[in-house]
Formats: sequence, C-alpha cells, structure tokens
Amino acid sequence: MPRKSSPAPAEQAWAFDVSAFRRALLGWFAASARDLPWRRTLDPYHVWLSEIMLQQTQMDRAVGYFERFLARFPDIASLDAAHEDEVLKLWEGLGYYSRAKNLRKAARLVMQAHGGAFPRAHADIRALPGVGPYTAGAIASVAYNAPVPAVDANVLRVFARLLDLAEPVDSPAVRRRLETAAEELLDRDDARNFNQALMELGALVCAPRKPDCPACPVAPFCLGRERGTAGQLPLTKPAPEIIRIHMACGVLASRGRLFIQKRRKTDVWPGLWEFPGGVMEEGESPEQALVRELREETGLPVTPGGKIAVVRSSYTRYRITLHGYFCRAEADPEAYRLNEADEARFVTPEEIRRFAFPSGHARLVAKVLTDLRLPAFLSGHAVL
Ligand code: SF4
Repeated sequence: MPRKSSPAPAEQAWAFDVSAFRRALLGWFAASARDLPWRRTLDPYHVWLSEIMLQQTQMDRAVGYFERFLARFPDIASLDAAHEDEVLKLWEGLGYYSRAKNLRKAARLVMQAHGGAFPRAHADIRALPGVGPYTAGAIASVAYNAPVPAVDANVLRVFARLLDLAEPVDSPAVRRRLETAAEELLDRDDARNFNQALMELGALVCAPRKPDCPACPVAPFCLGRERGTAGQLPLTKPAPEIIRIHMACGVLASRGRLFIQKRRKTDVWPGLWEFPGGVMEEGESPEQALVRELREETGLPVTPGGKIAVVRSSYTRYRITLHGYFCRAEADPEAYRLNEADEARFVTPEEIRRFAFPSGHARLVAKVLTDLRLPAFLSGHAVL
C-alpha cells in the first residue's frame, strides 16, 4: 500500500501531482545516493560536523577532513576540550576558519546548556554558533527526521529550474519564496531523505553548468526542461569584481628555528599563523615591500635573501599572489617587537607542522620545508 504523506500547508498550489513528484525523487535517491561517511550514521554530532564542513567545501574534498576530524575528536566532549590551534590545524586548507572556531564555541554550548547531548529542537540547533537556517534544517531533518526544509545552493538551483524562475535566486525575496516552495513540497514523513534527495539531485543531475535532464527523475514535473530554459537558470546578481593583491613575506631564522606570528583576532583569518609581511604598495618590488613590512610588523631591519616561491591563493573575491623570501635580520631577530600580531614564536621545522596557516602561507611552509637551502639558512648562513 502506498505510504500516505501528511499534507503540507499549501500543497494544492502546485500544478503537478506533488505525491508523484516525491515518489519519483525518493525512488531515485534510494537507488542513486552516494555512499558518504556521514550518511552511514544518524549521530547528530556527525551530521552537524558534515553540514558545517560542506557549507563552503565540495563533497569530495570534505570526506578526508571529516574522517580525520572525527578520528581526533570522536565526540562533542573531546571537541570542547580541544585547544583552538589543534582544531584550526585539522581545518587547514578548508578555508573559512570561522567555521572551525564556531564548532568549538558550539561544542562548549552543547556541553554547558544541553549536558553534552546535541540538541533536538530546531530552535536550539539554530541557536548554535555557525548554524544558519539551511544548516539547522539539514541537521534537524537528517539527524531527527524533523519536517523542516533545508534549502542550499543546490536546492535553489533545482527549484529555479523546476519553476522556470526568471528572477535572481540570490535576492532575499526570491530566496524566501523558494524556501516556502521547499516547505510545501517537503515530504513531511520522510524529510530526512527528501531533503538529501533534493540536494543530491542538484549535485549529480541538475548540475550548475549542464543539467542532465534526460537522466532526471523529476523531468516530467520541470517547467525549465519543458520550456528549454533550464540551461540558462538560475539567474543570479552580477558577481562582485575580482580584486588582485600582491603580497610579500619574509622567513627569518634564529638558532635553528623559524619565526612565525599569530594573526590578530580582528584580522582576516584570526588565530592563524603566518610569516611576517603584507600587501605590496604601488610601485614597490616584493623585496622593498617585505623590508618595509617586516620593519613595521616586527621592528626588525632585514635584508632579503633568496626567493623561496611565489604562491597563489583565493579568498572570497580576492586573488592573492604571495612572494616569499629567506631573510637575514640585521639585528638580533629575537629582539622583535610585535606590532601587527597577537603572539610570535620561533619553531623548528618539525614544530611548524603543528600550526595552522592560511592557504597561501601553508603552501609557502611546504616550500620552505622542502627547500634544499633550509639547513644552511637555519645554520645562520646567508641564503641567496
Ligand atoms: S529536468 Fe533538468 S532542469 Fe529540471 S530538475 Fe531535472 S535536471 Fe534540473
């Protein structure tokens, strides 16, 4: 006997058979869902962690991070007890580090306000640091099968095409309308699978560049396919202008150790470590910029030595080119003054691996550690 789903608030507003849509989508998901580590459990801690990681990260990339994170922090209590540096190190390379910091803050809240048990009520989940409307819906529905929608970018795209929507989906008003649509279409008895099925459809079939309509389980319900507009949807507001930044930084050594400093709480990438340096001013060469920056940041006069590497990274709309150099301090490097950082240390090549760096600096650290000139540099020789 077919399962009867409880009616959603405005189900009758849809031009197609909503029950048939749900059956088609859920049947496809049952047969096609990818086997992902967070889908092998309903443990709300695992679901929460996966949703936070997936906020800005591709599914394939998140798998390794998810497994390493859980191996080190198997439960909320261990995450709550962790040092921030260790959490950031495990997050290194994923970007958007506020997610890792919020995980720790939320773990503390769960321990203090919920006795260590991940909250069940949607409002309590939504109140956790780093949890927005989409993430709260995803956690509540996946972990507890709560009848709430979860509308991420994949789902917005699917809906824009299903409804042949000729308005930008990143406008708040349109987004609200689509969230209402998602609530109406939601299978309230099987929200766990319905929400995941919509997201999976967006990831695997209704893909951003080229929707695979012939393979789509909900093609008979789709206006965008019927009208031939699906490939041009969704519409979005114009992308913000890309800004290119050139930076220079210097690697200093003292008694076999390398100098690193911790970014201020108020900076971009707060709490991460870096080599001192900064943005090149107009007309400056990388060498000139790093001499000026190191004097401003550490009070040390330095002479640039050999170039280590030029590494490129992205942060939101910024495209960053970082020039890294071995440097010689013209004064005792341990007599530095910190002007632009919260903390500094001299660390050995073994120790530096334990610190978390923004992606550009992390790549530079890897270059430093494999540079054949490093032993001579650490021994105090000038390196060209
Ligand atoms: S029919 Fe095509 S456009 Fe419509 S939901 Fe399926 S893949 Fe997307």
